[in-house]
Amino acid sequence: MEKKQSLDTICIQGGWQPKNGEARVLPIYQSTTFKYETSEQMGRLFDLEENGYFYTRLANPTNDAVASKICALEGGTAAMLTSSGQAANMYAVLNICSEGDHIVSAATIYGGTSNLFTVTLKRFGIQCTLVDPDAPEEEIEKAFQPNTKAVFGESIANPALVVLDIEKFARLAHRHGVPLIVDNTFATPINCRPFEWGADIVTHSTTKYMDGHAMSVGGCVVDSGNFDWDAHGDKFPGLTTPDESYHGVVYTKKFGKAAYITKATAQLMRDMGSIQSPQNAFLLNVGLETLHLRVPRHCENAKRVAEYLKGREDVAWVKYPGLEGDKYYELAQKYMPKGTCGVISFGLKGGRAAAAAFMDRLKLAAIVTHVADARTSVLHPASHTHRQLNDEQLVEAGVDPSMIRFSVGIEDAADIIADLEQALD
Ligand SMILES: *Cc1c(COP(=O)(O)O)cnc(C)c1O
Repeated sequence: MEKKQSLDTICIQGGWQPKNGEARVLPIYQSTTFKYETSEQMGRLFDLEENGYFYTRLANPTNDAVASKICALEGGTAAMLTSSGQAANMYAVLNICSEGDHIVSAATIYGGTSNLFTVTLKRFGIQCTLVDPDAPEEEIEKAFQPNTKAVFGESIANPALVVLDIEKFARLAHRHGVPLIVDNTFATPINCRPFEWGADIVTHSTTKYMDGHAMSVGGCVVDSGNFDWDAHGDKFPGLTTPDESYHGVVYTKKFGKAAYITKATAQLMRDMGSIQSPQNAFLLNVGLETLHLRVPRHCENAKRVAEYLKGREDVAWVKYPGLEGDKYYELAQKYMPKGTCGVISFGLKGGRAAAAAFMDRLKLAAIVTHVADARTSVLHPASHTHRQLNDEQLVEAGVDPSMIRFSVGIEDAADIIADLEQALD
């Protein structure tokens, strides 16, 4: 291909490339298995000596096509789909961390990820230090330990709406010889491409804007191919020394820039099995085909809603990084100048009780445990997604107990505002 295609074109044309006489639309390979002529051929696939499909837990053509579209959108070198965003973040970390290791993560992250890192991975013997993402570099520096293996943050935090200073986090990670993993779920590659700012691995909950219609839970891990695992071989023996479970293959030697994703697939997916179903991957692909149209509309509507709320007497505060004057407006202008996301948060002067009463009166906006849907939706994190956190942990995660998370859809903004108005009144 001569000229690099624009993201708009990749949304439509990326991934599935039909050959002569093949289906125009991405087919759903609803098959657990694939047939071979000789036993020898199948053996070579098991040995990773040849590329090919043999069992859907390890690879499936529908999933591969969708992963390669997301890979192209992010500007990466290899990608894999997972059953959920949770699985994507778990694999991204477990692929390079084992018992006795440590990670540094921004404290302002999704509640589920925070539980994964500080509760469940701890049981695996992996420790996590949460840091204030806005702290000066010297301060965050203190969180690093000799056994630190990765740094993690969200490009736009859910639900805190903190914009990550990706370059600062990349500098810190690289100074310590470890990769930066960025969860780019809220910004999507349409608005932000973390690899261009030094991130090494990108993860997604494709459940959100990528699917966009609240149809299927899914995740994705994308590798930039830029991190030099061999230069820090002592830290990443899983990638740079023989894998006995695969006849002694050394992933970096055999697979080069595809080492990280090949290991995650051949080892973690083989053993843990959190695959995305081909049916869901098909639905995800339909969502991706309009991502470049939906995301700008979400942002445009969210800005109008944020401006409306800002003008209300009964609204105590509004957070939206796309709004001039917001604490993260400048960082957003740098990392995502085209727009941020469709999610805004705000608090009512009446606090927690008023939030519940207000939400019950909304008609168009539905109370759902979801964001980034084409339909406007609303949630009270302290009572719902972040229910497991105590007040101190809530503040650390950037979640005010009065916070209402409002996910602005792609309906007519005037109708969304009219719904807010009648509920507030
Ligand atoms: C929703 C979400 C996740 C978890 O994804 P699931 O698909 O629900 O498992 C992870 N990170 C972020 C930023 C999210 O918004």
